[in-house]
Amino acid sequence: MHELRKDLLLGRWVVVLKDSKGPDYYYIPSPEETGECLLCQEKSFSKEILRIGEVDSWKVKVIPNPEPVLRVEGELGRRGVGIYDAMNSVGANEIIIESPYHDKTPEELGLEQMRAVIEAYKLRIEDLHKDARLRYVLVYKNHGRLAGAQFNHPHSSVMATPIIPKRLKEELDGAKQYYGYKERCIFCDIMHEEISKVSRIVLETSHMIAFCPFAPRFPFEVWIMPKRHNCAFQETSKEELDDLSHIMIELLRKLKALFGDLPYNYVLHTAPNRIPRRNHWHTLGDDFHWHIEFMPRLQRTGGFEWGSGFYILQTSPEDAAKFLREV
Ligand SMILES: [Zn+2]
Ligand SMILES: [Zn+2]
Ligand SMILES: [Zn+2]
Repeated sequence: MHELRKDLLLGRWVVVLKDSKGPDYYYIPSPEETGECLLCQEKSFSKEILRIGEVDSWKVKVIPNPEPVLRVEGELGRRGVGIYDAMNSVGANEIIIESPYHDKTPEELGLEQMRAVIEAYKLRIEDLHKDARLRYVLVYKNHGRLAGAQFNHPHSSVMATPIIPKRLKEELDGAKQYYGYKERCIFCDIMHEEISKVSRIVLETSHMIAFCPFAPRFPFEVWIMPKRHNCAFQETSKEELDDLSHIMIELLRKLKALFGDLPYNYVLHTAPNRIPRRNHWHTLGDDFHWHIEFMPRLQRTGGFEWGSGFYILQTSPEDAAKFLREV
């Protein structure tokens, strides 16, 4: 019999199929290269928001997105349109160029390069939180056209929004509710459960853990979180960031060994900007725990998933963790 599983945090259900499939089941078309790469043409950058490294031997650069969806300038202009709500597209839309080389990813360049990328995440969140109009700073990566990547050049993205995105809001509310009921952090509870069960653990270091969640949305989905309870990514210690860089490299290498150059997304879920609505977030420091959700895009999302929010897993998280551990 297949198994229905419920996600503890969001209450979302998934179906884990009984005859769990191995990596060969997922076919990934090779990425096609089209046109000239905008991120290789440094002369055309309108502005450099951040640079890690020297002018002519830089590691990571952050630039405004050349095709921004949100803009930093202007007022929010909240308004009613009939019974509906609208506001101006104020926010920040940045590209983190993860490598000076078009065809060398941070995990190929090694620990120091990955560390510089992670450092850029931290510095951008810190900086954007100074703008009280921005309620949430989402750092994410789309790799490969099938995962929605805008460029083929190694890059991550930053999107700072004047509202808290719905998915985040659900997570923050779920965590707050669990804390209200149990007076414990749901993520710490999940982590202790995973460490004691072992079967879904992919990687573990002194400060970090990577595991396949019990009820994921995607086959081979992996969550990475710090062992020390901490709601805000920008408050992560140097040692934790070193460990995270190591885990990211190992995980990407493992996925590549199983699937080749696969399309994937990852998102960094951290605390919202607490400067606006300071009183709203009084238990946030205790109830939320930053983490990275890593989603390989091995399958297209179909009508059932879109229509119901109910996901079908062709590979169980226990098997996925085993394949990832053993490769
Ligand atoms: Zn390029
Ligand atoms: Zn915690
Ligand atoms: Zn999350």
